[in-house]
Amino acid sequence: MDLGLVGKVAVVTGGSSGIGLATARVLLGEGASVVICGRDPQRLEAAREQLASAGDVFAQRCDVLLEQDVQGLVDAVTSWRGSCDLLVNNAGQGRVSTFAATSDEAWREELELKFFSQIRTTRAFAPLLRKSASGSIVAVNSLLAYQPEPHMVCTSAARAGVQNLLKSLSVEFAPDIRVNSVVVGLIESGQWERRFAARPDQSVGRDAWFSQLARDKHIPLGRLGAAEEVARAIVFLGAPASAYTTGATLEISGGLSRHF
Ligand code: NDP
Repeated sequence: MDLGLVGKVAVVTGGSSGIGLATARVLLGEGASVVICGRDPQRLEAAREQLASAGDVFAQRCDVLLEQDVQGLVDAVTSWRGSCDLLVNNAGQGRVSTFAATSDEAWREELELKFFSQIRTTRAFAPLLRKSASGSIVAVNSLLAYQPEPHMVCTSAARAGVQNLLKSLSVEFAPDIRVNSVVVGLIESGQWERRFAARPDQSVGRDAWFSQLARDKHIPLGRLGAAEEVARAIVFLGAPASAYTTGATLEISGGLSRHF
């Protein structure tokens, strides 16, 4: 299937690691020009170097929560290629805490991260996306939006609110810009690598630790997902090949969801 991405320009926030990095790689493989951003300059440059052999890639340091940084990203994209056809709002991380352990400040931080990592970039890139013949946004969100976990209480609530916002955007932005999302379960990436590195029993090996995690979480497909398995779904939803799809959510969780 031709996804229609040859010559298109895509921006992937949080493109220096995990799902974002894998998405950038798949987009490059489909012939798109890709801009990645992240906060840590070294990690970003390492990612850019990794991707350079796969195609036309550009990296710009940007904290998506900072208005100035986001405007800098738009300016950089504008002077690099002068257009943007696809925005992948992926940057972020989860917060592990129960209601009892979550302070007001933590709530504010989490709500800001989850909402403004969508709001700022969406607002800033909308004018460029409107000029595209195939303007499209794909948000990376979590299954927690529909299936909250008590040990991730504020992340779950924020994720649900973001799904609601995306639905509104898909209507307000139609027919110029399509807005879709993926909701993911447990995906092997930077976040889980960090949790593995901090495991209480350091004698447990990588495969055993991840297999046990999949069993503990009762994932029907019996394993965590790979970042590339999410990336392929993001790229499909963001590409002209899915031109009649907006306001949709694709779940990539190995069957973990219990709702229908
Ligand atoms: P990684 O930690 O591997 O990647 C996160 C990326 O986001 C990094 O490039 C990081 O770079 C960047 N980032 C984080 N905060 C900001 C910021 N404020 N501004 C710009 N870039 C930022 O994690 P994943 O690939 O797993 O995460 C991707 C998305 O998927 C996240 O939104 C995450 O919450 C979500 N998700 C992942 C799940 C999983 O199981 N992996 C489950 C549910 C949701 P840097 O730190 O240098 O800024």
